Amino acid sequence: MGECNVLLIGPPGAGKGTQAAFLVERHGIPQISTGEILREAVASGSELGERVRKIMEVGELVPDEVVIQIVEQRLRRADCAKGFVLDGFPRTPGQAKALDAMLRRLGRAPLRVVFIEVPEAELKRRILSRGEGRPDDTEAAVRRRLEVYRKETQPVLEHYGRSAVAVDGLGTVEQIAERIAGALDRS
Ligand code: AMP
Repeated sequence: MGECNVLLIGPPGAGKGTQAAFLVERHGIPQISTGEILREAVASGSELGERVRKIMEVGELVPDEVVIQIVEQRLRRADCAKGFVLDGFPRTPGQAKALDAMLRRLGRAPLRVVFIEVPEAELKRRILSRGEGRPDDTEAAVRRRLEVYRKETQPVLEHYGRSAVAVDGLGTVEQIAERIAGALDRS
């Protein structure tokens, strides 16, 4: 079987992390979540963590060069050889271009891009009720994260154009996982 290089894209609260975990189970490939990697850096109190903590807390984006470097280092690890699931990256057109160049340089197969679509009112409800206790789950930070998504991340969808397959992100976790599996078969 070839590489299974998946990109899950969608607004905050769309269920990217949950669905990435399903793909990890199903395909035995690692999840690369820049949000998780950054939260670990903050928790460890590293220099990087100190740099990004305040940015994350208010729902802004960490600079492109920081996350691009994180992803490149992660993709070079041996466990990504058969594929990977990217979740939360790329979030800007600049990151998307850097990812294209990186995949070419590393000689990797093309990405399969799945866009998880969820209406904004539902996103707010989900994030504010999920109770993960993330410091950026306050009402103000959530509002800002949604704004940043519209402004910075929606253009990433245009970058992928028709190669991105949209799936309905409303329903049970299992229903959405089935739709994503179907979309990956078609892509
Ligand atoms: P997430 O867990 O994907 O919702 O990410 C949480 C926060 O981490 C975001 O609100 C950003 O502050 C930061 N972050 C995660 N991924 C990226 C990225 N690709 N580019 C810039 N900032 C990011």
